Amino acid sequence: MFDFAGAPVLALAALGFLVLETRKALRKRKQPQPERMQTNVAVAAVAGAGLRWVLLPGIIAGAQLAHRRRQGLVARLGLPRFLAYPLAFLLLDYGNYGWHVLLHRWRFLWRFHNVHHTDLDLDVTTAWRFHVGEVLLGTPFRAAAAWLTGAPPGLVVFYEVFYEAATAFHHSNSKLPYGLEVRLGKLVVTPRMHGIHHSVVQRETDSNYSILFSFWDRLHGTVRLGVPQDAVNIGVPAYRDPHELTFARLMALPFTPERPWQLPDGTVPERTGSPDPHRLLP
Ligand SMILES: [Zn+2]
Repeated sequence: MFDFAGAPVLALAALGFLVLETRKALRKRKQPQPERMQTNVAVAAVAGAGLRWVLLPGIIAGAQLAHRRRQGLVARLGLPRFLAYPLAFLLLDYGNYGWHVLLHRWRFLWRFHNVHHTDLDLDVTTAWRFHVGEVLLGTPFRAAAAWLTGAPPGLVVFYEVFYEAATAFHHSNSKLPYGLEVRLGKLVVTPRMHGIHHSVVQRETDSNYSILFSFWDRLHGTVRLGVPQDAVNIGVPAYRDPHELTFARLMALPFTPERPWQLPDGTVPERTGSPDPHRLLP
């Protein structure tokens, strides 16, 4: 189902966001596009193999196990399908919020997730720029989440298509009309919201963890919206030299000593003032 229905839908969605961000960009680019594209496509190709042949079968296996044995929360609750399926869909997304928090808080996992955050620009190609190690490490967690929720295998694949499409959307550099984005942002994660998650200011990177639905961040007080996009500097402060961000260096990055969260001159990026974290700015 993923290959025949999900992948073409995702390819179309990615193409759509690519056209949107090319026509109307949200943030100015800092890096020459061809080299960065090559790197992101190469990193994504390895991660994509991990996603297709390890992560996806892993999640489906977790769901099948629960389904066969009638285990997992939604099966235990005995709810009718029209309630059980939306609940399982929500819980799968909540699980991914939790996994994203872990990627940032557990230093071992951050080493891998750091590769994604080192991108100096943000666009559709960033959506698949993940170290394959992050994909492999996420497999047991996400398979366990599928098992615990008791989501049927088909729903797990259905959710995964939404997960990938949401990832493509919120990483894209598309400039949506501000009013529309404010309304959309009440339900789903938008490019402005996720742009703040990729800021060099650590307090901002350690916020806005949601993937599809944005309310998980509001629920946990991890939302941070009050930063204008032209004030967001994308990247990780200690990894800002493009010569260090080649495919080979990025593959090796998790296995090298982690640098402190500071710029090469030793300063720590900060933002003064205390903007309202609940109000999205243009
Ligand atoms: Zn992150």
